[in-house]
Amino acid sequence: MPSVGCSAAIQVLPGDVVSRIAAGEVIERPAAVVKELVENSLDAGSKTVTIDVREGGLSLIRVTDDGEGIPRAELLLAFERHATSKLRSDQDLACVTSMGFRGEALPSIASVSKVTVSTATKLDSSGVQTTLIGGAPGPMRDIAPVRGTKIEVAELFFNQPARKKFLKSPSTEFSHISHAVQQAGLAWPSVHFRLTHNGQEVLNYPAVTEQRDRILQVYRPAFMGRTLEIRGRVPGCSIYGVAVDPLHAKSTKQPQDLFVNRRPVKSAAVFHAVTEGYGASIAKGNHPTFVLFLDVDPGRIDVNVHPAKREVRFAESESIHRVVRHAVRHAMSGLERTSVLGTAPVPGFEEVLSNDPAVTTPSFPARGAGSFGGSGEAAPMHRAKGREEAQLPLVREDGAGYEQSTAPAIVPLGQMLRRYLVVQVGEELHVIDQHTAHERVLYQRLLRQWERRAVASQPLLIPEPVELSAAHCSLVERHREDLEGIGLSIEPFGASTLAIRAVPVGLGRIDAAAFTQDLLDDLAQWDRMPSLEGRIQPVLASLACHGAVRAGRAMGLPEIAQLVQDWVQEGLVMTCPHGRRTAFRLSADELDKLFGRVGWA
Ligand code: ADP
Ligand code: MG
Repeated sequence: MPSVGCSAAIQVLPGDVVSRIAAGEVIERPAAVVKELVENSLDAGSKTVTIDVREGGLSLIRVTDDGEGIPRAELLLAFERHATSKLRSDQDLACVTSMGFRGEALPSIASVSKVTVSTATKLDSSGVQTTLIGGAPGPMRDIAPVRGTKIEVAELFFNQPARKKFLKSPSTEFSHISHAVQQAGLAWPSVHFRLTHNGQEVLNYPAVTEQRDRILQVYRPAFMGRTLEIRGRVPGCSIYGVAVDPLHAKSTKQPQDLFVNRRPVKSAAVFHAVTEGYGASIAKGNHPTFVLFLDVDPGRIDVNVHPAKREVRFAESESIHRVVRHAVRHAMSGLERTSVLGTAPVPGFEEVLSNDPAVTTPSFPARGAGSFGGSGEAAPMHRAKGREEAQLPLVREDGAGYEQSTAPAIVPLGQMLRRYLVVQVGEELHVIDQHTAHERVLYQRLLRQWERRAVASQPLLIPEPVELSAAHCSLVERHREDLEGIGLSIEPFGASTLAIRAVPVGLGRIDAAAFTQDLLDDLAQWDRMPSLEGRIQPVLASLACHGAVRAGRAMGLPEIAQLVQDWVQEGLVMTCPHGRRTAFRLSADELDKLFGRVGWA
């Protein structure tokens, strides 16, 4: 039978062909050359790395560093496949601390371009230079002894027309290069990076001591000013970085930068943990953006799982997930923000983690039904119809977010248009949306109780029947048990009717039909959510929304004070669980500026 191109006998390929095939994996485009060369410079302990590029990297990529240099005797060895100074044995592979370790980059780059390398170590009285064409080394020349290494890669893919055909325009290729340099820059704030394109300076990041300052250099105040700081630590792993304040989350997904031991990587697990940390604070259609640095004990990750090292594998992915999730949640909880008001010192993350119900046993007693209302008895909700004023759940809950004694003073000033509360909080003027703020309070309480598996439920004396399609009935039926875990008891009531029999304690009167509609929307998404927490959160948000004070309801000063106190206690979160704003704040400084009082008594 005739076959296409398979008729020849099996043969081992010549070395140069093998090299070029291997190069295809590592060197997919000019930016990969930049990434590899810059990583070599960083591994060599450089303090300054300069990258000069021409025509998107196709005609020239030059990386110059002031690192330790390559000893003359090892120069050609560096271009041999699997030649590295960074690994000695299999054991070392289990504990990689350098960026490179496979000894692949230089031979790969050299096999598909014309490379000139110039280098000197601090011991050399003269430097050395050589040129390799398609991997074949030329003679060594003596040059001036300037400590460091300069590698010039000319005519990339000159011997690989197929690869060259798939490259994009020089400006697109250059944008990948500049991204690679930004990423290296973010991970190495103490190194000075410069990038030029066709002779023009494009990036310049002088060395800084603070990680924050480097993020600022790279992403500018436009991003930085909208972020919250993320910090967390458990044995063997710490996280640091910034993530967008939910209030400022947009539809853009950039940046979403993650570094593990300074290596830029993608990790679905970490991304998922970040998303869970945000919980329901970001509006649908908007995305978290962040720059996060994870430091993990090198013995507990495998960095050797991706040809371009763009992924890592965690030995203890559960605990990584948890530390990321908690650190993000902690920042979003708004505890950080209270420091602005000059109140409590911000508790450390460790402290918060150890108070976290998911980590330790509950430190305060689970409440029984009715304790929220202070009556000790479940208040039958249907009776409240037409008496909404009397049964608003603006009630104290003890031991929430942080100590009351350290909370800012709250002076209620009034209500506007029956929907905005005007209040002095500490030294700030707040205009608060009564509905979204209350929604946030209820949500935080429900979430906390759910995490403790202690959601108190309150039976409705007369269950409210809701008519549904048979499909919707069975959807609810399928998830009944989980819903009971959040204090929601729903039972069939005839063939296509359900009845809500109980709801969590502490909510206002709920319109059963409207709530059920939202619940069905939430349930329709359930199967797509990977974790129980992810599934439950939207339902808690719906409950909070339906159970919260509505706009249009008059509120007296004591009630206003109570609601605002609860909201402050929950950490002044600036968005409701659906991502809408809860408050507008003006500090004393801002007011003074507004009135030209700066410098005046
Ligand atoms: P790897 O980084 O995995 O070791 P490479 O092919 O990238 O493999 O580099 C091979 C070796 O060349 C390195 O191990 C290092 O010893 C040396 N080397 C490469 N670039 C530099 C540099 N800029 N400064 C000092 N040494 C370098
Ligand atoms: Mg390398």
